[in-house]
Amino acid sequence: MTALPGKCMCGACAFTATPTPDGLGAGACHCGMCRKWSGGMYLSVDCGSSVQFDDDAPVGSYKGSEWGVRLFCRECGSSLLWQTQDGQNQHVSIQAFEDPGQFEIGVQVFIDKKPDNYALAADTKTMTEAEVFALFAPKDG
Ligand SMILES: [Zn+2]
Ligand SMILES: [Zn+2]
Repeated sequence: MTALPGKCMCGACAFTATPTPDGLGAGACHCGMCRKWSGGMYLSVDCGSSVQFDDDAPVGSYKGSEWGVRLFCRECGSSLLWQTQDGQNQHVSIQAFEDPGQFEIGVQVFIDKKPDNYALAADTKTMTEAEVFALFAPKDG
């Protein structure tokens, strides 16, 4: 894919990002932190390390865990992206792009943390918290 323009609600944080062609499309995260942070489930697409903010963008960051950092607009509060602390894995909110509907939702993570009062109609791959940590936990040797 080519670099896509994105921005926050007020427009102060403008950026470009290039989604990686990993075949899974966008992911939905139902973990408690993403739900508090985004006001819903967090729908994001993997953009590798391609995110480039405009120079004057008022980007705030919050270290939510030992491995993740969340970036948001300091002006309007929009949730923009989750990234690993080295900045190498940037998962951008699909809502920041002009057409969020272009991303097929291929996977739901932390499915065991999802409240019972909502569900996606799409039939997707799912992963529990334990499955996510098993996949991403650092492996020795
Ligand atoms: Zn903003
Ligand atoms: Zn999450």
